[in-house]
Amino acid sequence: MRAACVTRAFDAATNTPGKVEVIDWPTPAISNDDEVLIRVAYASICGSDKHYIVDNLFPDPVPFVAGHEWSGVIEKLGPNAKAAGFSVGDRVTGNFLRECGWCDNCRAGKTQFCAQPDVRIGTQAEYVCFPYQNLYKLPDSVGLDVAALAEPFAIAISAIIKSGVKLGDSVFVIGAGSIGQMLIQLAKLEGASFIATSARTASKRELALQMGADCAIDPSACDVTEEAKHANGGKGYDVVFEASGNISCAMDAIELICPGGTAAYVSYYDFESILPLKIFPQIILKEATIKGLQMGQIGWPHSVRMLERVDLKPLISKVYDLEDAAQAYADLVEGKQLKILLKCS
Ligand SMILES: [Zn+2]
Ligand SMILES: [Zn+2]
Repeated sequence: MRAACVTRAFDAATNTPGKVEVIDWPTPAISNDDEVLIRVAYASICGSDKHYIVDNLFPDPVPFVAGHEWSGVIEKLGPNAKAAGFSVGDRVTGNFLRECGWCDNCRAGKTQFCAQPDVRIGTQAEYVCFPYQNLYKLPDSVGLDVAALAEPFAIAISAIIKSGVKLGDSVFVIGAGSIGQMLIQLAKLEGASFIATSARTASKRELALQMGADCAIDPSACDVTEEAKHANGGKGYDVVFEASGNISCAMDAIELICPGGTAAYVSYYDFESILPLKIFPQIILKEATIKGLQMGQIGWPHSVRMLERVDLKPLISKVYDLEDAAQAYADLVEGKQLKILLKCS
């Protein structure tokens, strides 16, 4: 089969970027009764996939097939998958990570910290193989293109659940990228009374307003924290999501919360990034809650069902054929697109 592979890792010594190429790769095969062979329809490129190119956040040995966001159609399946109700031709998506179920963290319900997860990276290809336990059948109304966003959507849902956004809250979303746009829609569904966001790109601000934001601030034109509080009647926000991945915005999240508020960090930063806090005024006196979020495990059960209740189609800003994956990655690094999809079959 054809597959988008990371063939060269980022080299920190020479500052040489990593490389993605589309090459021939062995087609995966069903290896036990639980497994399902899927012809990938669309693989979405994750914001985190850029770390294969620009740094060594995920130091996997090369070459490997990239990707963990996908949708597809079942082509072959083991007897246990059939007994679980799956059939050839079913339209599906699924979680790339399956928790073991028996480690201390899984038993405590903290499956995102599973000590021995079964991880299936490699969806930017013509075929993938997954255990049926990872899969979700798609409702007829959800297109295969939108279904490829189920994984980042699970992350956004997890963030909403963990942040505790509730009816009447004011919400600020730093960064109106794909996760930010999802958070805006979900905060609206949760009954937020006022939603504001910030984004450098005009088209992202416009889309945020379309998705339900009441206010979209251009951080290059003003002081964001001042402008954001002004927009909310001079007050801070009950919940602030940091979804820009820009470490210089990480402090803004703390600045922007109201007394008793929650700053929720949804992005990834490099291992050396530091958040300098004034503990007494910013944490103690504000009784601030700081939430980190690293996986979408708890959001997955809701993600596929909720795809029908939101509008993620406008988030797909570019679709490339699998063969053009290198260009898709160049676009990703440039950072102007929202979601980039690879059409794999
Ligand atoms: Zn992802
Ligand atoms: Zn586990």
